Amino acid sequence: PIDLALPELALVALIGASSSGKSSFAARHFLPSEVLSSDAFRALVSDDENSLEATADAFDSLFYVAGKRLSRGRLTVIDATSVRPNDRQKLVDLARAHDVLPVAIVLDLPRSTLEARHAARPDRDFPAAVIVRQMTELRRTLRGLGKEGFRHVWVLRSETEVNTATVRRVP
Ligand code: ATP
Ligand code: MG
Repeated sequence: PIDLALPELALVALIGASSSGKSSFAARHFLPSEVLSSDAFRALVSDDENSLEATADAFDSLFYVAGKRLSRGRLTVIDATSVRPNDRQKLVDLARAHDVLPVAIVLDLPRSTLEARHAARPDRDFPAAVIVRQMTELRRTLRGLGKEGFRHVWVLRSETEVNTATVRRVP
């Protein structure tokens, strides 16, 4: 099993296409208050967690809260797709601004798994092609994560790897 030894004070980026299991993984391994989800912030600012039009305000708010948490020395998990280098760079910069280690947990599951999960979800009404685009963008840029500034990069590639992974915090 993959052992994720997280620094006690870290900015943890959960990275993966829609339906890769980011929110499920976060709920299983972290406190609800440690997890800042872009969808939750979309809902907070617009009453609609799927509202793309609310993206800029949602991320402004998410970054504001993340910054406050990191200043207070609280481990913080960012639950957003973060499949594009530009999106991830903002997370690395935020961590650096607060002298906190940025680490990445990547959920890179097979396309067939993502598509089957997406088809079964009532809460995601966009076409499956969106997920394939996200997955492709992630795979195209995955090798660069270390260079982007993430101090640890863990990649989970199957449901079994995700379900058996252990998360520890090391001082
Ligand atoms: P989004 O980016 O759209 O919010 P997500 O990455 O947060 O997606 P989840 O909501 O965690 O994905 O998971 C999507 C669906 O996949 C869930 O409804 C659940 O049915 C299934 N799923 C998630 N994790 C697992 C898992 N470890 N094993 C089996 N099924 C899973
Ligand atoms: Mg989610």
